[in-house]
Amino acid sequence: MGLEEYKKKRDFQKTSEPKGKVVKGDEKLIFVIQKHQASHLHWDFRLEVEGVLKSWAVPKEPPKETGVKRLAMQTEDHPMEYAKFHGTIPEGMYGAGTVEIWDKGSYELLKKEKNKYAFILHGKKLKGKYFLTKFEKAAKNAWLFFKAKED
Ligand code: MN
Repeated sequence: MGLEEYKKKRDFQKTSEPKGKVVKGDEKLIFVIQKHQASHLHWDFRLEVEGVLKSWAVPKEPPKETGVKRLAMQTEDHPMEYAKFHGTIPEGMYGAGTVEIWDKGSYELLKKEKNKYAFILHGKKLKGKYFLTKFEKAAKNAWLFFKAKED
């Protein structure tokens, strides 16, 4: 995917969000969840995959427990530096509103297929095995995000 769509949507003269580039890190993989009070409150779940942050907007608080499935709408890939971003996106800009870091940590990738990710999150709020699975027939960017049943 790359970052073209991310850059196209933003005016970096006006927003303090990072401009970003694709980064190939050799350290631990990271994830971040940003609580984003835009026109609609949502949580942006971002997972480091191949030098960028794969991103999903989750309209309700991400689940800490099993048994709760959350809709997650895939959005454009974000640059790695975005994991540190918090603050205010100015009015009139894409995503205008406030961004705070709700959770972050490292993660272990267990499985990555076209329509399915399985991973272990090591965050403060989210810990343990999670899945992201894409709906086959529903709206094209719709995924489900949920915690695996303990076994
Ligand atoms: Mn957002």
